[in-house]
Amino acid sequence: LDQSTTTSPASVAAEAVALLTGFGVDPALLRRGDLVARSPLTGEETARLAVVDPASAAPVIERAHEAHLAWRTVPAPRRGELVRLLGEELRAAKDDLGRLVTLEAGKVTSEGLGEVQEMIDICDFAVGLSRQLYGLTIATERPQHRMMESWHPLGVVGIISAFNFPVAVWAWNAALALVCGNSVVWKPSEKTPLTALGVQALFERARQRFGADAPEALSSVLIGDAAVGAALVEHRLVALVSATGSTAMGRAVAPKLAARFARQILELGGNNAAIVSDTADLDLALRGVAFAAMGTAGQRCTTLRRLFVQEEVYDVFVDRLKSAYGSVRVGDPRVPGVLVGPLIDHAAHDGMVAALAEAKQAGGTIHGGDRVDVAGEDAFYMRPALVEFPPGAGGQPAIMQRETFAPILYVMRYRSLEQAIALQNDVAAGLSSSIFTRDLHEAERFVSVEGSDCGIANVNIGPSGAEIGGAFGGEKDTGGGRESGSDSWRAYMRRATNTINYGKTLPLAQGVVFDV
Ligand code: NAD
Repeated sequence: LDQSTTTSPASVAAEAVALLTGFGVDPALLRRGDLVARSPLTGEETARLAVVDPASAAPVIERAHEAHLAWRTVPAPRRGELVRLLGEELRAAKDDLGRLVTLEAGKVTSEGLGEVQEMIDICDFAVGLSRQLYGLTIATERPQHRMMESWHPLGVVGIISAFNFPVAVWAWNAALALVCGNSVVWKPSEKTPLTALGVQALFERARQRFGADAPEALSSVLIGDAAVGAALVEHRLVALVSATGSTAMGRAVAPKLAARFARQILELGGNNAAIVSDTADLDLALRGVAFAAMGTAGQRCTTLRRLFVQEEVYDVFVDRLKSAYGSVRVGDPRVPGVLVGPLIDHAAHDGMVAALAEAKQAGGTIHGGDRVDVAGEDAFYMRPALVEFPPGAGGQPAIMQRETFAPILYVMRYRSLEQAIALQNDVAAGLSSSIFTRDLHEAERFVSVEGSDCGIANVNIGPSGAEIGGAFGGEKDTGGGRESGSDSWRAYMRRATNTINYGKTLPLAQGVVFDV
C-alpha cells in the first residue's frame, strides 16, 4: 500500500483540465452543466459537463448522416489516410491521453498507456484494411454473365461505450467504421466523459490536417447517460449500433434495434474462467491467473472470475495464488509498482461487498476483499478477493454464475477435464476462457467443438486482454458481436450481390423459360 502518494484533491482535477486543454478542448466546456465527472483516484469532481438532451441528439445524427453521404464517395484508401493521421495524433498524445485514462478510469500507468497503444494499433490495422475491402467474384450458372459482391458503406454508426475501456472501444469501432465509409456518433460512458472529449479533439486535429474531403460531422460525441444512448438506438438514421456494456444494457437496446431492423454489435458482460490442469507449468499459470484476475482491479470484461484447479495440484497452486493476493500492491495507480488501482465508484464497491457476503453465505472461504484507505472516503480501493468454494455438490453457487464487476476470483477444484469444461460453460455469459496445460490432448480438446463455448479460448495465457488482430467478442449473454480484427469490418458495410450480363441473350436462372 502506498498512502504517501495520495495527492491533494485539487491536483487531479487541475491536471485533467490541463491535459484536455492541451488536446484543444475549450476549458469553458468543462465548467458548465449537470453531469459531474469524477476521478476514482480521489472521488473528487473533475468537471461539470452539459448533457445533450435526447431531443437534441437528432440534429447531430442528421448531420452525421449528411457527412456519411459525402464521405462514402471518397475512395477507401484515401479514407484510410484520415485514419493514418488519427494514428499519428494518438502517437503524439499517447503519454497525455494514457495519463487522462489513468485519472478518469483509475487504470495503472502501463494499462492507461496500453489502452492508447491499442487505439494506435487499430488505426494501423484499419489503414491497411482500407485497401482490402474485398468482395468475391462468384461462378454463375449463366453464360456470359458475371456475379460479384460489392461492399458499400452503411451510414451512421452509433458507438455506445463502457467506462472500463473509455477510449479503446471507440477506436476499435471508429477506425473500421471510417475506412468503411461511415460516419460515427459516440455516446461514451457517463462515468468517463473527459477522455471522450480528449479523443474527439484529437480526431478533429486529424480531420483538419486531412482537408475539406472529411466533413465536419464525420465524428461527434453525445455526452449523457442511458437516455442519450437510447436516442441513438432509436434514431432511424443510425444504421448500426455497436454497444459495449453490461448484459442488462444489451437486453434494453437489442429489442429496439431489432424492431427497426438496425444492425447491432453487442459486446456485453463476461464471466470468464480458467482451468489449471495437473500438467500445467504452474509458474506460468500463476502469472497468467494473477494478472487476469487482479489486473485493472477486476474491471475488464475479460477479467478472470472463475478458476477450476485440478485436485492433484489444487493445494500447491492455490497456496501460491493466495500469497500473490496477499502481496499485490493496491494504491494510487500513478505510482510505479502499484498493480491494483481503485474501483470506479461507490456502486462498484457496494457490488463487491454484496457479492462477498453472498459468497460467504453460500459456503465460500474468503481471502482478502477488504477496503483500503488510500485517498479518503470518496475513493474506493479494495484488496482483490479470492473465494474458495468446497468441491461441490450442486455445481457452482448462484453468485459464481453472475458477473460482479470487481476483483473477486472464485476457485473450485475439479477431477476430470470433462467436468472442468462443463463447469466453465455452465454460465450465461460466453466471452473469454483459457486452459493452462502441457498436454496436447487437453489443449486441443479445450479449443475444439467439444471444448470452451466462448468467443475467446486461449491456451497457456489468461482470458484477459486481447490483440487487435483477432475478432473480439463473445457468445450467449455476451451478445454475439465481433469487433476489431479479422473480418469484423464486414459488420460496418452492406453487401450487394451484382449479376452482370455482358451477352446479347437473356438466359434465366434455373432454366426458367419466359418468352414474350
Ligand atoms: P453499463 O451497461 O452500465 O453502461 C455501458 C454504456 O451503455 C454506457 O454508456 C451507458 O450510458 C449505456 N447505456 C446503459 N443503458 C442503456 C440503454 N438502456 N440504452 C442505451 N444506452 C445505455 O456498463 P458499465 O458499467 O459502463 O461497464 C461494465 C460492463 O460492460 C460490464 O458488464 C462489462 O463486462 C461490460 N463490458 C463488455 C465489454 C465487451 O467487449 N464484451 C467490454 C467492456 C465492458
